[in-house]
Amino acid sequence: MNLFTWVLLIAAVLALLYLVFLAFVYASIQAEASCQTCKTDVHLERASRPGMVKQYAGFLPLKRYRCRRCLKTFYVKRGTTVDLRPDSLDPEKA
Ligand SMILES: [Zn+2]
Repeated sequence: MNLFTWVLLIAAVLALLYLVFLAFVYASIQAEASCQTCKTDVHLERASRPGMVKQYAGFLPLKRYRCRRCLKTFYVKRGTTVDLRPDSLDPEKA
């Protein structure tokens, strides 16, 4: 194999790895911001995205949340309304 073939092969492998990485990020996107394990949104807090996600998938409009109860993290699409205030501060639920 000549050099061009090697470069093409390496580029194809890197592109495949990148697609697998994006698939993992995509798999942790949820439609609504509530913990699927605890079935509630009262324990949610914003979490920062891991450096690798920031660097390689930073263009995706995602916000990361962590459940303080079970420590599960997930992404929701930016623009999804999430109420992080405790219920006691919400006049509609009081
Ligand atoms: Zn949870």
